[in-house]
Amino acid sequence: MLQTIVHYSLHFLAPGVLAVLLFRRVWLKAWTLMLLTMAVDLDHLLANPVFAPDRCSIGFHFLHTWPAMLVYIAMVLSPNRTARILGTGLLFHMLTDFIDCLWMFTHCRGCCESSALKWLCAWWLA
Ligand SMILES: [Zn+2]
Repeated sequence: MLQTIVHYSLHFLAPGVLAVLLFRRVWLKAWTLMLLTMAVDLDHLLANPVFAPDRCSIGFHFLHTWPAMLVYIAMVLSPNRTARILGTGLLFHMLTDFIDCLWMFTHCRGCCESSALKWLCAWWLA
């Protein structure tokens, strides 16, 4: 329950805080654009099953992989403000999903060992 509240607060409310801190003059546009980056989860529709509560998104779904994140970093570094806002939202989405994975791993060691983040299980679950 607490994990779900934290997860969705990070997905919906934290981008509002980021929008005010980073894009103050256009914070409402920035928050709206960052909320639209939730569409990155449409890549889940390509998975079978579409929803698996014990599956870590990071490194599994193609818009949640390291190459995709490099694109998001390039967007953050772009001179185009809209691209920077979208890149910020996408990277923060990845961070939120990463935190959710770590949280899940604390009560599901097998979830960690079968994930793309298995390289950190020994350290995280020590
Ligand atoms: Zn996601």
